[in-house]
Amino acid sequence: MLYPAIYGQNPMFPKATDFEVVLKNEMAGKGVICYRAFKRSEVIAHISGDVVNEIRQHTLQISTDKHLYDPHFSGYFLHSCAPNISLDMDKLTVTALKDIPANSFLYMDYAETEDYLFKQFPCSCGSHNCRGWITGKNERLPVLSESVLHAVNS
Ligand SMILES: [Zn+2]
Repeated sequence: MLYPAIYGQNPMFPKATDFEVVLKNEMAGKGVICYRAFKRSEVIAHISGDVVNEIRQHTLQISTDKHLYDPHFSGYFLHSCAPNISLDMDKLTVTALKDIPANSFLYMDYAETEDYLFKQFPCSCGSHNCRGWITGKNERLPVLSESVLHAVNS
């Protein structure tokens, strides 16, 4: 199990033989890779963690003021604008959106769960519908102030 025993003994918790948090590259940082294949619509894991009141790195939003801090598994899911997994933060489950071959990184869309991101960032997922700049679903793109625009243009 990737989770410490204190989280309980759910047989659907991610197994260390099936998943690992690994460094993808310096740019993307760490991500979660799966070592076995999953079928589309399959529930691939149940997730757990500590429920905290604020957004942190490695939290996923449960509700407006509750966030799941999971530094063992789901907190390391990478973002893609064409994700291969979907999270249900009520049931705390992860479902495959497409057939996922073994040795694939798991990608969620951060805007699926997050109203606001710990940190917005430029995306390099390469999908044809890439949004380019990733925000939470309640955040707008950053608006450059007049003075910044003036400085950039002059
Ligand atoms: Zn993207």
